[in-house]
Amino acid sequence: MKNIEKLINGTRFQCQGSGKCCVSRGGYGFVYLNKKDIKRFANFFNIKKKDFIERNCVKEDGYIRLKEINLNGNCIYLKHKKCSVYAARPEQCRTWPFWPENMNTKKWKKEIINFCPGIGKGKFYSPKEIKKILVKEYKNN
Ligand code: SF4
Repeated sequence: MKNIEKLINGTRFQCQGSGKCCVSRGGYGFVYLNKKDIKRFANFFNIKKKDFIERNCVKEDGYIRLKEINLNGNCIYLKHKKCSVYAARPEQCRTWPFWPENMNTKKWKKEIINFCPGIGKGKFYSPKEIKKILVKEYKNN
């Protein structure tokens, strides 16, 4: 993370709603929630936080994550290839693709650019802005 300015000289990114990052892909599939995410979801659904957790989450190893669809492991909120809770989506979804594990030149150029159709489109993120998001995601983790 320390050399992010060297890794990416800024990039354009705008979510294209492809839903590709909401689909299970091995170890990257889980959507972890922090306290703020749970509160946001509870407000969104107008239910108590504990009820939201009971109905929609899995508690594992001290973490809380969204349940997945049993058949394919995709996020339960992915409907017709779109996020059905976009306004309430968790921090992890908001900070994509600027995740610490993506900040590797090789990975970014070979995998992330090809995987995500939002990269290269829309708003320009300067290295400074990317770093700010990374710090947020780092703290979130
Ligand atoms: S909450 Fe929405 S944006 Fe996040 S993984 Fe699920 S469907 Fe995708």
